[in-house]
Amino acid sequence: DPSPGPGEVLVRIERGGICGSDLHYYRHGGFGTVRMTEPMTLGHEIAGRVAALGPGVGGPAAGTVVVVNPANPCGACAFCREGRPIHCLDMRFLGSAMRTPHVQGGFSEYLVCRAENAVPLKHGDLSAGAFAEPLAVCLHAVGQAPVYGRRVMIMGAGPIGSLLVVAARFAGAREIVVLDIRDEPLAYARKVGADRTINTAEHADEVEAFAADKGYFDVIFEAAGQGATVAGALRYVRPRGTIVLVGQGATAELPVSAIVTRELDLRGSFRFDREFALAVELIGDRRIDLSPLLSHTLPAAEADRAFVLAGDKSQSMKVQLAFA
Ligand code: ZN
Repeated sequence: DPSPGPGEVLVRIERGGICGSDLHYYRHGGFGTVRMTEPMTLGHEIAGRVAALGPGVGGPAAGTVVVVNPANPCGACAFCREGRPIHCLDMRFLGSAMRTPHVQGGFSEYLVCRAENAVPLKHGDLSAGAFAEPLAVCLHAVGQAPVYGRRVMIMGAGPIGSLLVVAARFAGAREIVVLDIRDEPLAYARKVGADRTINTAEHADEVEAFAADKGYFDVIFEAAGQGATVAGALRYVRPRGTIVLVGQGATAELPVSAIVTRELDLRGSFRFDREFALAVELIGDRRIDLSPLLSHTLPAAEADRAFVLAGDKSQSMKVQLAFA
């Protein structure tokens, strides 16, 4: 059992959502250039209750339901000082092997974190609270391009693609079309507000129609992490439109002339910053309902089964572990 030091609190974890990156670590020991070189506890979508306060810490009080912000930027490096903590040179992000020693994650009974990273959740719904981190990722992504009043395509209807639907709706999108190669995730995307969904494996022609007249969409979010979808996005976006890359791990050969002649913006979006507080507020105030996206909750003792389920998109959307 860890004990909190000055500036820290001890959190009794109750819910932890399994993320795509957790799955990559579990199956392959990493993703892209990131490799695990030592044992690491996974988990960074976590919610629980404050169990104890470190010396001199004023709150949140013991018993408060909190969502743990997994990002711990150093606050001192060049990027932190210029207000870009996402790009911190010494970021300690829970359950990440990007640095060595790795930062242990939150799939555990107890976790010590900075007091300010334990963000109180108003209505105390721990399952909803564990969605704050991926929702923050999506709120950050929709902040990368003007979405209000625009036509939006989302490529990939996994948990991030589906939460992008919620975030794009919140940001005032005019029309949201979601693509995936399976029907099951597309049904979830419709439940949370997609106007139209297309199974590209079965209806490629419907998608191709969006390539006519130099493209249809003002903004496209790529959340599949596939090279082919990145290349496809270049065909469906209108001149001067924006493609936001949220999915990771794709290697793509792109027709650069399409970017040049249509004057496209191609932008990456990574993690989140202040959007975490916004996500906790929207969930805690019940201004958005993410419960349709929670497909399974399994006890931590069945973590293996939970990871297999989370990796099978024909069976699951978001899978959470219960620690209490
Ligand atoms: Zn820093």
